[in-house]
Amino acid sequence: MAMDGGATRDFQVGALGALGGAQGRGPLIDPFGRTISYLRVSVTDRCDFRCVYCMSENMTFLPKADLLTLEELDRLCSAFIARGVRKLRLTGGEPLVRRGIMTLFASLSRHLDTGHLDELTLTTNGSQLAKYADDLKAHGVKRVNLSLDTLDAEKFRAITRWGSLPQILAGIDAAQAAGLKIKINAVVLKGVNEDELARLVEWAHGRGMDVTLIEVMPLGEIGAGRLEQYLPLSLVRARLSERLTLEDLDYRTGGPARYVRVAETGGRLGFITPLTHNFCESCNRVRVTCTGTLYMCLGQEDAADLRQPLRASEADDLLHAAIEQAISRKPKGHDFIIDRRHQRPVLARHMSVTGG
Ligand code: SAM
Ligand code: SF4
Repeated sequence: MAMDGGATRDFQVGALGALGGAQGRGPLIDPFGRTISYLRVSVTDRCDFRCVYCMSENMTFLPKADLLTLEELDRLCSAFIARGVRKLRLTGGEPLVRRGIMTLFASLSRHLDTGHLDELTLTTNGSQLAKYADDLKAHGVKRVNLSLDTLDAEKFRAITRWGSLPQILAGIDAAQAAGLKIKINAVVLKGVNEDELARLVEWAHGRGMDVTLIEVMPLGEIGAGRLEQYLPLSLVRARLSERLTLEDLDYRTGGPARYVRVAETGGRLGFITPLTHNFCESCNRVRVTCTGTLYMCLGQEDAADLRQPLRASEADDLLHAAIEQAISRKPKGHDFIIDRRHQRPVLARHMSVTGG
């Protein structure tokens, strides 16, 4: 079997049969009647940035041998698609730094062709977009979520530690030239970018990009106190409405975001407030890490290992059984709280593990 690096014939052919093991098995419905139609897969825990809210400067990454191969990732995604997942998002770490990642996009695009999948997309920091925009478009990707917290080059460097703003802006240019639609995700950081959010929204809307503002989530030990970074979006929204007219929208994605239309720009603005709002009742998603661990809820520790059943047999029966078992344990909701006394995250894993 081919490993990372080349779109070999073996990979393409081997992956084609992967819808097989689902025969006679229905869609994935959890104990609360929610149908699982959205899968996020972290394809690597590595990243070329070290964003202050996401990673510490000295991260220890997983040994490469622990990672699912691109073929295994394809099998896993295909198994979920066979069970009714209609939207697939690749994330990370930084998905575009995984070697050979275009072969996975190429291979997964067959599910778009057959109509089993509605959307193949990714969340990226944009550093490799100039290189890959055309390929992504060719593999059926239509929209990209791009994380960008500031338009100030110095602040950008301070937030990402290793990133360069001009490189990201070039990536955005390339993606738009290739015909990809971009949504900007910005994490709101107290005292860092709070004063430029209106400008960021106006800039993005001016370029035809929607924006989602995200509250810092208490995931992973990152060295700095979470309370110093945390700014409730209710406050941000109130401040934004002093400058912009925000009109509530009914638009929902099944996810944690709530949307408004900005009257002045005509663009859409989302707010993801995991700490202050409950969005769990409409949750249609699950996440898989690059080692094949399935998290049924972003805010809970419970998880299921899919790598073992994936590797135990070439057929997918064991995998399907493990997925079903896990979905039967999907919890009703999450429980994020910042431990104010100890300034510790309530969940030890980093966002780069589950991919946000
Ligand atoms: N590297 C890619 C990127 O930055 O878009 C994909 C992975 S990144 C973990 C996915 C999203 O999670 C990014 O939008 C990032 O800003 C967000 N994120 C990371 N850590 C976070 C945290 N502690 N709280 C809120 N959002 C976070
Ligand atoms: Fe990398 Fe994305 Fe985490 Fe930043 S948020 S360190 S770009 S994985």
